[in-house]
Amino acid sequence: MIPVNSVLQVGHFPELMQAEIDRRFTPTYHLDPAAPAPAGNFEAILIRSNTKLPEALVKQIPSIRMVATCGVGYDNLPLAYLKQHGIQATNTPEVLNDAVCELAIGMMLGLMRRIPESEAFVKSGAWAKTPFKLTTTLAGKQVGIAGMGRIGQDLAKRLEPFKVEIAYSGPSPKQVPYTYYPKIKDLAQNCDVLFLACPATPDTDKMVNAEVLEALGPTGFLVNIARGSVVDENDLLYALQHKKIAGAALDVFENEPNPNKVFLNLDNVLLTPHIGSATTETRIAMTNLAVDNLEAFFAKQPLLSEVHH
Ligand code: NAP
Repeated sequence: MIPVNSVLQVGHFPELMQAEIDRRFTPTYHLDPAAPAPAGNFEAILIRSNTKLPEALVKQIPSIRMVATCGVGYDNLPLAYLKQHGIQATNTPEVLNDAVCELAIGMMLGLMRRIPESEAFVKSGAWAKTPFKLTTTLAGKQVGIAGMGRIGQDLAKRLEPFKVEIAYSGPSPKQVPYTYYPKIKDLAQNCDVLFLACPATPDTDKMVNAEVLEALGPTGFLVNIARGSVVDENDLLYALQHKKIAGAALDVFENEPNPNKVFLNLDNVLLTPHIGSATTETRIAMTNLAVDNLEAFFAKQPLLSEVHH
């Protein structure tokens, strides 16, 4: 049971998720995160990963003891402030792996086989005049995953049947049967397709820069389903415009929902609007896990998926 007037919902949730929240309990809505906090002794905040939680807002509500974010990324939270004040935080890991991995693989295939462009080719009638250009086969290629965590490992397992060699990078080696490179530049040097599946942290900020893209090379593809901040977008735009890499499939951008306009006119990109977890089943599961965490908090039970910040 979540007591009334105890949870502040910060920001909008899509209709389906809001219906699920409202079915479970009644939050107090604070739709504009930048607006002054409403009066009340709220103990918890409910928010989405794509909504930034201003530190200033949390400061205005000293009764807050817990923040439940709906999404696995928690770079939207003022982590240092939460830690300093002993405020617990939860996210929604695992339940979105299927949707994110399916999108990542779809984006990779769409980019490499130029599926969106080939569809436009058929629809425009161009097929009657000339055959579509040749593309490249995935089988036999080296695939790199920067971030061999929950999503990275799930993605690797799904990639195995595609007859590829898999390698990864990250802060430490994992118990997985793939080649480990401590440095992303070495991973990029040794792969044809580079997936980004790491979190947005100060360490991963602009981690994919000109040097990494140069290492990926003119036949290499980048697939970013992590966060826009992991890539130096100026370096990526330069690499795409000058064919330093073969192409990029991007679900996430530095500036969402208004990505750098230069991306929009490139013919070697596949762009999606941050839809990694955007399926009905997944969004319902994420919402329920966020609310389950709130319930656990109010029942003084262990949190189901606590963020150790
Ligand atoms: P996770 O289980 O925490 O995995 C992240 C992995 O990244 C960990 O293995 C971590 O290594 C590794 N890592 C940390 N720093 C790194 C670095 N500098 N280089 C390479 N790897 C590094 O998280 P997850 O559940 O897999 O989710 C990963 C991220 O995907 C989320 O943080 C989120 O930003 C993004 N995401 C995007 C969407 C979307 O809609 N596009 C949806 C869901 C998630 P250690 O274990 O050694 O720390």
